[in-house]
Amino acid sequence: MLQGKTALVTGSTSGIGLGMALTLARHGAKVMLNGFGDVDGAVAQVKALGGAVAYHGADMRDPAQIEAMVRACGEQLGGPDILINNAGIQHVAQVEDFPVERWDAIIAINLSSAFHAMRVALPGMKARGWGRVINIASAHGLVASAGKSAYVAAKHGIVGLTKAAALECATGGVTVNAICPGWVLTPLVQKQIDDRAAAGGISVEQAQRNLLAEKEPSLRFTTPEQLAELAVFMCSPAGDNVLGVAWNMDGGWLAQ
Ligand code: NAD
Repeated sequence: MLQGKTALVTGSTSGIGLGMALTLARHGAKVMLNGFGDVDGAVAQVKALGGAVAYHGADMRDPAQIEAMVRACGEQLGGPDILINNAGIQHVAQVEDFPVERWDAIIAINLSSAFHAMRVALPGMKARGWGRVINIASAHGLVASAGKSAYVAAKHGIVGLTKAAALECATGGVTVNAICPGWVLTPLVQKQIDDRAAAGGISVEQAQRNLLAEKEPSLRFTTPEQLAELAVFMCSPAGDNVLGVAWNMDGGWLAQ
């Protein structure tokens, strides 16, 4: 379904971003990956699906590198026709203890990077008359939890950015939407589970059960592949008139 389209997925060497990249590639899209860590492993997994793949190592804290990444995508693969702003980090601390450098990094990576990628990618999408921007927000884009001030501020911000940009694009074939996952078992969440186990003197399995029980009536993690299929729907013709939504997939977290 996505043959001829190019997707740029930020933070796609791991977790949700890698799931998005693999699923979009399975649906026929060319994919530019981004992120740190096991770059070769991520590139090999997407390449194994047979389509065109590229990688750019832009640091999402740096607007100039983000701009270079979007332009490199156009030069190497075309587009981007689909932009998934997914890169994100977490830090848990009370406001008065929150390291200033961590606040700045979270706002830069989880919020401002999406603005920088969009401001460079949107003109091409508008000129071609088709585009999809999908911002990976969070249940924390819609409700808060204690200890996550920077993350909650960034995720609420990206929901607002999504709505404003969607209105600007409303008549031109370009849609802008957000996906708001609940818990997904990725390295970002595994660290929180490990920290809870250590702080509470409980097993990792018990800490995982507690984490789910606090927020998610389903008591189950959402998978990156389930989130990616929602992104595929947003890229399909059926998604043409879905504009500015913050769509939660969260095991009932926000229904409470
Ligand atoms: P993850 O840690 O598995 O992946 C994060 C990705 O971002 C990695 O590829 C990493 O290399 C990349 N990254 C981090 N800093 C970067 C930087 N400065 N420049 C470029 N890339 C950078 O995390 P994840 O859980 O897959 O999270 C992906 C997104 O989903 C994040 O925006 C996160 O807030 C959001 N999210 C996650 C959950 C969850 O439960 N895991 C829930 C809701 C929202």
